[in-house]
Amino acid sequence: MTGVIALSGLLGAATFALTVAATPTPPALEGENNETEAAADISLLPSTDPSVSALLSGQWDRAALGSDSAAHTVLLSEPFSITIEIESGDTLMSVLLDQGSDRGHAHAAITALSDVFDPRDLRPGQTLDMAIMPARGSEPATIEQMRLRPDPLRDILVVLAEEGFVAREETRSLTDQQVRAEGVIDSSLYVAARDAGVPIPVLGDLINVFSFDVDFQREVQPGDRFSVMFTERLTQDGDVADFGDIMMAEMTVGGDIKRFYRFENDEGRIDYFDERGQSVRRALLRTPIDGARISSGFGMRRHPISGYNRLHRGTDFAAPSGTPIYAAGDGVVEAAGWNGGYGRYIRIRHNGRHSTAYAHLSRIDSRVTSGARVSQRQIIGYVGSSGNSTGPHLHYEVHVDGEQVNPLSIDLPTGETLEGAQLARFQRIRAEIDTQYAALEPRTQIAAQTDVDLDD
Ligand SMILES: [Zn+2]
Repeated sequence: MTGVIALSGLLGAATFALTVAATPTPPALEGENNETEAAADISLLPSTDPSVSALLSGQWDRAALGSDSAAHTVLLSEPFSITIEIESGDTLMSVLLDQGSDRGHAHAAITALSDVFDPRDLRPGQTLDMAIMPARGSEPATIEQMRLRPDPLRDILVVLAEEGFVAREETRSLTDQQVRAEGVIDSSLYVAARDAGVPIPVLGDLINVFSFDVDFQREVQPGDRFSVMFTERLTQDGDVADFGDIMMAEMTVGGDIKRFYRFENDEGRIDYFDERGQSVRRALLRTPIDGARISSGFGMRRHPISGYNRLHRGTDFAAPSGTPIYAAGDGVVEAAGWNGGYGRYIRIRHNGRHSTAYAHLSRIDSRVTSGARVSQRQIIGYVGSSGNSTGPHLHYEVHVDGEQVNPLSIDLPTGETLEGAQLARFQRIRAEIDTQYAALEPRTQIAAQTDVDLDD
């Protein structure tokens, strides 16, 4: 049934009062949902019913609506206004008929509305404000005005004019507002962010910003913290219509603080940069060795030892034994030691998606042990011919989401560093964001609760 969520009077409240009556279920109409519940109807009566004052003050109980079966007697010919929330199964026709309109009148209103809004786009949760002249005797109710709000950005207004119904669309302007939210992670980032009032789309963006630096599966621990400043786009009524970008995001993981700022570069590309102007996107070296040539690329080949044709899941660089091998990017060592046919082997995890592996080494650097942090271009070991190898070379693999990929063909992250005038512009914007952030109060948990309710 249709939910009446507000009722406000153009009523002389002191003189007239309202009772709410249940009308019998209207006959099912062809092409409409069969309504099984009595529609809440509102008729105007001079009454001293004590429920009336509660109704007028807005504290009425919907459950009480169905039990009263008073007849309609209408003594008032003033239009009243009502706000209806569209519910599942409602059609515009059913809603208007519920308000006492006759079919022809309702049809005319819907036809006018169809000029600017497809009635099939009516969805549960949308609201319809109406000004209605109630039925008088044998005369059906008249819809004087209706305002449908299909989404927070526009209104569809239908007005009964002399020549009949006319409809127009009104777009609503949005105002941007910066919001600061922060929290300490107890069980998960998701829960902490939700409790701090971070909407889900913004949380997704937050995870993206840090995906090159933080492995959310493995690294984030209770006690780690996050702060974020993002844009909320509000309607004139203060409803959140949309979310803009994260302007600043900070995470403290294991005592290590990382803060990134949104910046649009000269080519119009938006990315996040640290305070020195270094992009969050860390480049992985395609060639983690100097002066080497590729002796065998990624792809099908006849294996030099087994003789079988098989997929070569890495890139081989021929180089003299002892040539230094660099870490392709910052990361954590996942494996360092002997690994079957790979011989002396190192694997480094760079972020939640990317890892690199290095095989057939003659020696592994002593600092490179499982769990150790390495930085890009740090020497991790030396070329050799250990394991199944026909001669000194580095076998190098890039793993994306656990799969070996060809480092020469995949779109590896590029690590842009801002310089010159662009860096100066970034630093000005960064200072503005810092000032704005410091001036904001963090969103409270109460606001967080309201956000959750938005989806109900
Ligand atoms: Zn190889």
